[in-house]
Amino acid sequence: MAAERPGTLKSRIYSLGLALLPDTGAFLTGGRGACLAFLHGPPCRVNSDTGLHMLDTLQFPVAAAPAPGETIAIAPGVRWLRMPLPFALNHINLWLLEDGPAWTIVDCGYALPDTKEAWERIFAQGLDGRPVRRIIVTHYHPDHMGLADWLSQRWEAPLWTTEKEWLHARMFSQDTGEVSAASRRLFAHRAGLDEEASTIFGERQGNYRRGVPSVPPTYHRVSQGMDIEIGGRTWRVLIGEGHAPELACLYCAETGVLIAGDQILPRISPNVSVQTHEPDGDPLARFLASLAKIRDALPPETLVLPSHNLPFYGAHHRIDELISHHHQRCDQVIAACTEPRSGADLLPVLFRRMLDRHQTGFALGEALAHLHYLAAQGTLSRTCGEDGVNRFLYSAA
Ligand SMILES: [Zn+2]
Repeated sequence: MAAERPGTLKSRIYSLGLALLPDTGAFLTGGRGACLAFLHGPPCRVNSDTGLHMLDTLQFPVAAAPAPGETIAIAPGVRWLRMPLPFALNHINLWLLEDGPAWTIVDCGYALPDTKEAWERIFAQGLDGRPVRRIIVTHYHPDHMGLADWLSQRWEAPLWTTEKEWLHARMFSQDTGEVSAASRRLFAHRAGLDEEASTIFGERQGNYRRGVPSVPPTYHRVSQGMDIEIGGRTWRVLIGEGHAPELACLYCAETGVLIAGDQILPRISPNVSVQTHEPDGDPLARFLASLAKIRDALPPETLVLPSHNLPFYGAHHRIDELISHHHQRCDQVIAACTEPRSGADLLPVLFRRMLDRHQTGFALGEALAHLHYLAAQGTLSRTCGEDGVNRFLYSAA
């Protein structure tokens, strides 16, 4: 799909600016409000008309999700289960793939006692007496990687994931937050937060380890285009970027099923944020480019199994909506940057509800993602003022 020039497309998606907030990658935290949305941006309305012939809308073939500890057969060789999350986004979908005399798990759940209990119920009742032979993790965020080490030891099963996701998980699981506090404070200052807010931003400790107490010390690498044979079926790895560095989606052409991780979600927009450890990053460019590649690799009738909300048909339509959503945000940013604006200046433009101090951190990463994207395109110019704040200005010419 051809990329549209930023700032030219009016999205049909509404930014509701409600309870789910963007993240900066799961490590800024403190209270419950901060944790809730380290993964995803504001929800986006979608058309949920029914009628499988109309793939310009989304269709949800199953109306209700499995209860904790239960599984639903959602596709040939695929069972769907849900685990709780201690956030406003209160669940994650996980998948069990039949793998010959055993099972392959895809994603693990956040490290909570309730999650372990639900896993044990599934092990006791839902595996038909077969063991787990492999654990695939789509990306390093704690609701996906969380119990990987526990599961790996529980079953003596290897972790399969991408190199960047494993490295990020290992890095953040060993970061107490103390060393990186100064760089986070500087990140916030450069983005235009005042001194108090920058200090709070910097002091928030890495909370990754609460959801991911440990990460397996070894892994089996999966990478773009790799075919994984699982239970006699071939699953091709399609890499998504921007939400996470090297997120592994799995596509089975035989059954027309995509396990999408957080790259494509039906009800909320995957968070795309500049990360504090890469303050000049341009994750939005990578997100849009990888989405276009994934779209090209999928037939429109693909059944998408997302990590949140319900499985759906309408992959092309949803990808188009997500791309349009970001172009709409670019329009808003451009319109605001007729005067020099910092990331902090854009928060009331992009997020219409009041943000508390924790939520501000998450929103900031997403605002910066759009600013950096437009600057890289040449649509905005960036200058650093004497106060050390980066500001962006629309380059009309
Ligand atoms: Zn995620």
